[in-house]
Amino acid sequence: MIALHDLIAGFAVIGATDDGGVCRLAATALDKQARDLFLREIGERGLAPRIDAIGNMFGVAILAPASDDVVITGSHLDSQPTGGRYDGAYGVLAGLLAVEAVRERCLATPGAARRNLAVANWTNEEGARFQPSLTGSSVFAGSLSLQDAYACADGDGVTLGAALAAIGYCGVTPLELRPVRYVELHVEQGDRLEQTSGTLPRFPAPG
Ligand SMILES: [Zn+2]
Repeated sequence: MIALHDLIAGFAVIGATDDGGVCRLAATALDKQARDLFLREIGERGLAPRIDAIGNMFGVAILAPASDDVVITGSHLDSQPTGGRYDGAYGVLAGLLAVEAVRERCLATPGAARRNLAVANWTNEEGARFQPSLTGSSVFAGSLSLQDAYACADGDGVTLGAALAAIGYCGVTPLELRPVRYVELHVEQGDRLEQTSGTLPRFPAPG
């Protein structure tokens, strides 16, 4: 848990706002900083980096070399203009640690894994700068063409394709594996937790 908190804090510095949140719009210089840091974290944990044409990033753990299947976990590192530090980053970074932990366990018991694992950072998931949102994951899923995604323009007329090229994230190493499951941890999006702050039922203490 300390590792996860440290990781989240490290990413929250990039585009930090005065109130403890982040402003890290897709395909900006700040997004590039977060992406570069994520790429370093992927490498340092023994995962293989992949970046596809729409800039989706993956850290792959080949645990079952005979299988084309991959279970993906992840979320997004871009944010709304007044985003929270956990929104998206939590899912990406918890996923990173989970993939690393499973990989280490598999290294200790070779042949045990039946599928491969990957952590993902999806491009322009929030859609604060380019509409529609969920751009990278839609291209990945085949519901939006790469051409249409590249043509999305921000308020200044800059296209997503041009912005990704400018930060060096039109990748040429798409994920070569077949996704069979996807898991995303994400912070609660409504105000339920805030409304019930302090009055949520507590779990009984272990007796
Ligand atoms: Zn989110």
